[in-house]
Amino acid sequence: MIAFDYARPRTLAGALKASADRPGARFMAGGTNLLDLMKLGIERPEAIVDVSALDLRRIEALEEGGLRIGALVTNAELAAHPLVRTLYPMLSRALLAGASGQLRNQATTAGNLLQRTRCYFFYDPASPCNKREPGSGCSAIGGFNRIMAVLGTSDECIASHPSDMAVAMRALDALVETRRADGSTRCIGLDRLYRLPGETPHLEHSLLPGEMIVSVRLPPPPPGRQTYRKVRDRASYAFALVSVAAVVHVFDGRIASARLAFGGVGTMPWRDAAAEAALIGAAPTSESFERAADVVLAGAKGHGGNDFKIPLLRRTLTACLKQITEDQR
Ligand SMILES: Cc1cc2nc3c(=O)[nH]c(=O)nc-3n(C[C@H](O)[C@H](O)[C@H](O)COP(=O)(O)OP(=O)(O)OC[C@H]3O[C@@H](n4cnc5c(N)ncnc54)[C@H](O)[C@@H]3O)c2cc1C
Repeated sequence: MIAFDYARPRTLAGALKASADRPGARFMAGGTNLLDLMKLGIERPEAIVDVSALDLRRIEALEEGGLRIGALVTNAELAAHPLVRTLYPMLSRALLAGASGQLRNQATTAGNLLQRTRCYFFYDPASPCNKREPGSGCSAIGGFNRIMAVLGTSDECIASHPSDMAVAMRALDALVETRRADGSTRCIGLDRLYRLPGETPHLEHSLLPGEMIVSVRLPPPPPGRQTYRKVRDRASYAFALVSVAAVVHVFDGRIASARLAFGGVGTMPWRDAAAEAALIGAAPTSESFERAADVVLAGAKGHGGNDFKIPLLRRTLTACLKQITEDQR
């Protein structure tokens, strides 16, 4: 491991100052992703600001409806919270489908959102990777690419985003609340938090240096039934090949509202407004579900080894839509 400075402040102001004082410092929460990457020499921060002692571990019901989730709430705590289980069951399911019990006890809400790709070549310092070393090339394009993305890719990078939780949160219109040492705050929707790889795959999110996620806000849950379905190589302890988060409300025999988000297939947690619009007003039939799948997949591009994700996404989406509309008809 390469030497780095380490601080574990007790207050938010202290953590923000410690980060502002050291350009190149990184926040560390549960450390389950950042430390692994540091051990491999892929992340090389000069300084670590360990935020795990901060008082950011509460889940509060908001007066206007919805929840505020502290950045340090663990994945296990969030999945088990009674309000999450009753109001946002898809989020509970997504969290419980991720990693393992031990990891979920350590992994945090903010860390989960900002975890980095599991692309094999990103993890292998001997292989070219534009995300790890800009300009070096992409070993996944034309190489072994079974787990890579089919949506939102570029000629520079096809790495998929690994988070399950973020997929459910995208469907739920979650917003991250941030703070910097100068007192400025921002509230950023997940659509604007994540960046597409384009020509700069090493830039993955829109946070500024020293900007810390302090909480995640969930608006009140949308009407309808929710689900999260994850398809993977093993029944547990495996990242998604394809996942679908769906909330659909059927009223009077027609789809009144729909939210669809996808994991394992996009370079960021993927949401498709056009596919949602294609469902609204339609009867909940296999024809309308197939039409929604056509819309999602219109821009999909396989790279050989991951071509199977395209029909797998269609089958997973249509099965989820059937399941959650069945008893609403
Ligand atoms: C074997 C294994 C299997 C896994 N399987 C899955 C899976 O199936 N599904 C899944 O979704 N995940 C899976 N994970 C990933 C796991 O969920 C993440 O490692 C974890 O959520 C990261 O959270 P953390 O708190 O440990 O983050 P850290 O490692 O502490 O940080 C991750 C990143 O977030 C940044 N960060 C942390 N907190 C803040 C903050 N408050 N503000 C700004 N930046 C911050 C850090 O600087 C770092 O860049 C797996 C991990 C392992 C090791």
